[in-house]
Amino acid sequence: MTTLFWHRRDLRIHDNAGLYKALFSEKNVQPIFIFDTAILSRLKKDDQRVLFIHQEIEVLKQAYTQLGSDLQVYYGSPLDIIPELVNNHGVKSVFCNRDYEPYALERDKTLFEQLTALNCAFIGTKDHVIFEKNEVTKADGLPYTVFTPYSRKWKEKLNDDYLKAYPVEKHLDSLNKITATPLISLQEMGFESVQKMAFPSKDFPVNIIQNYNDTRDIPAIKGTSKLSLHLRFGTISVRALAKQALSSNETYLNELIWRDFYQMIIFHFPHSVKNSFKKQYDAIQWEYNETQFNAWCEGKTGYPLVDAGMRELNATGFMHNRVRMVVASFLTKHLLIDWRIGEAYFAEKLLDFELASNIGGWQWASGSGCDAAPYFRVFNPTSQQEKFDKQFTYIKKWVPEFGTPNYPAPIIEHKFARERVLNRYKTALNNE
Ligand SMILES: Cc1cc2nc3c(=O)[nH]c(=O)nc-3n(C[C@H](O)[C@H](O)[C@H](O)COP(=O)(O)OP(=O)(O)OC[C@H]3O[C@@H](n4cnc5c(N)ncnc54)[C@H](O)[C@@H]3O)c2cc1C
Repeated sequence: MTTLFWHRRDLRIHDNAGLYKALFSEKNVQPIFIFDTAILSRLKKDDQRVLFIHQEIEVLKQAYTQLGSDLQVYYGSPLDIIPELVNNHGVKSVFCNRDYEPYALERDKTLFEQLTALNCAFIGTKDHVIFEKNEVTKADGLPYTVFTPYSRKWKEKLNDDYLKAYPVEKHLDSLNKITATPLISLQEMGFESVQKMAFPSKDFPVNIIQNYNDTRDIPAIKGTSKLSLHLRFGTISVRALAKQALSSNETYLNELIWRDFYQMIIFHFPHSVKNSFKKQYDAIQWEYNETQFNAWCEGKTGYPLVDAGMRELNATGFMHNRVRMVVASFLTKHLLIDWRIGEAYFAEKLLDFELASNIGGWQWASGSGCDAAPYFRVFNPTSQQEKFDKQFTYIKKWVPEFGTPNYPAPIIEHKFARERVLNRYKTALNNE
């Protein structure tokens, strides 16, 4: 082998931009995947996402085998494994698709330096988003920090070329013809192999996308696409999905633009992972009441929409977007608990956890992010329920004891919480 293609958050062959580039320009391209011990060591041993990745790697391996090639899977640090492969096999170039998270950028920078010293090229391609980095900027070349003008420019720039599928299938003869070593098992990596959660299907729900405007805010029905997990791990192509949305539903397209927006924000403003995007919000004095935090985690706050959402998350690894906004607002504004604590809880539980979108969503809810609602707009969880789950259908599904004496009283009074958060935010922001 003379070339490697390194799969990361792009676990598919079809319409894979980086793989296409490697196969088009090189011969004997060996696809690889690395279970990165730096990432795995931070996860619990029953993490369902590792199981999902493992399943998808098995599918990918089979797909390559049918093409007369195979996916070689490693376990360890990419910074050890890739330079070793380059040294031992005379590899001249390593291709991959770009990743915009701070950890990945740092890792790729180090790898680039290592490979340059070994006289090997390291070539990244855009695949995870439609527009990346500086492709959509303000007239002065600076990144947008407000969504609406960003989305307007995004749409102006879009043309068919950006949505075209990469014809990987035309260059499959460039794949290295080998039989790889068997796939490492979950147990060998210290993980349990029991699937406790149902993974959403990767079929395009064409009807849902068409009717998205009417259904997207109702958590009791299947009114959203549930493709977030597949977009996160690249088991579907965002270009194909955007193409579908463009021809059938602009509101749905806007959601994909939000996704691009947050990827662009994390790339340009990596400080927002740990700190408030708007610096002055780091002056807020948070409370931390452990009993209240636990009640939120367990879905026992006495606010049924909040509780239903948290129980859905705990049981399935998914939560409806409307309810994500409500529970995040409740934690940060009603309980005055730091958004970073809620963000970390979501990061552990969400199957579709995507750092950029999670940080974006949490900072939006707490008011500290780019383009967030003004802090004095505090979601009322009761009126949100009246609007979006009028018949208590979603609530009764997840909180069966709701309406019985076993259901807890609210852990905090709405009016008190509202006044407290307004005062607390005002003090912090006025002291700027
Ligand atoms: C506090 C909070 C945390 C969130 N954390 C995540 C996260 O970790 N991972 C994640 O993928 N999304 C996150 N979101 C965004 C959104 O809730 C989910 O993308 C959506 O609920 C996934 O369901 P779906 O696939 O049915 O979405 P659909 O409504 O069908 O939307 C289609 C796709 O568009 C993208 N999308 C939709 N809304 C948003 C948004 N607001 N921001 C960015 N992308 C969006 C997703 O990739 C989604 O799969 C978060 C939102 C909030 C308020």
